[in-house]
Amino acid sequence: MRLVAVGTGTVVPEGDRGGSCFYLEAAGSRLLIDCGPGALQGLARWDLPWKSITDIVITHFHADHIGALPGLFFALRHGAAPERGEPLTVWGPLGTGRLFSRLAAAVGDYVLHPGFAVRIHELEEGVGQATEGGLELSVRSTAHTEESHAVRIQGRDAAVGYTGDTGLPEGDARALGSFLGGLDVLIAECSLADDEVSDNHLSPRRLASLAGAANPGLLWVTHVYPHFRRRDDVAELLSTAGYEGAVRVLSDGDAWSGGTGES
Ligand SMILES: [Zn+2]
Repeated sequence: MRLVAVGTGTVVPEGDRGGSCFYLEAAGSRLLIDCGPGALQGLARWDLPWKSITDIVITHFHADHIGALPGLFFALRHGAAPERGEPLTVWGPLGTGRLFSRLAAAVGDYVLHPGFAVRIHELEEGVGQATEGGLELSVRSTAHTEESHAVRIQGRDAAVGYTGDTGLPEGDARALGSFLGGLDVLIAECSLADDEVSDNHLSPRRLASLAGAANPGLLWVTHVYPHFRRRDDVAELLSTAGYEGAVRVLSDGDAWSGGTGES
């Protein structure tokens, strides 16, 4: 299994970080998790096989997580010679079908009919699904937007998960931590400092308690607002808040490999 942080930024534009996007490769699946602004440049920059993506997993509909979707389908339609024939499967929250219909109405039919089959599946909490390549997908609703969810992706011998954007209501550290428990890599947002965070995002103290419950092999910290990452050492704040596991505060292009490569 190979994981690449394609875009680790936020809603605030930055020269060195794109909007949220991760690339995951395992056996037959080449999967994007979110597709924020800058994703196409990131995929090209890190030499990732964007033309042969098999699946896209969407955590929620904020533009910093899905803004590059029309551009990706336009590129697959017109910029991917020789023409692509393989189907592409989109996994997203309830409302993903309607989102794609609206995108198609706004920018063009190629979003739904790019010259190959686009299959859209809406994921529901408690209902496991699997990609054609055999990755198991499950989701758990998060405190961010009406549709937002965290995602867990299980291969044969490695597993990763992503909080998407989320707050951490009372009791959720245990419940969300258990859903995201025992992962090789937990990708987690940490938007803002403890004294400036809103109800629908994580801060070091919240993330320390979530990650403490989830106990991942490696914690990948993403979606840190620019002023916060310039001002503070987020890894140190996590440690001060009591999280003792391995932490990497991400930059675009960071990568991880694990498992046997067969998963
Ligand atoms: Zn969001």
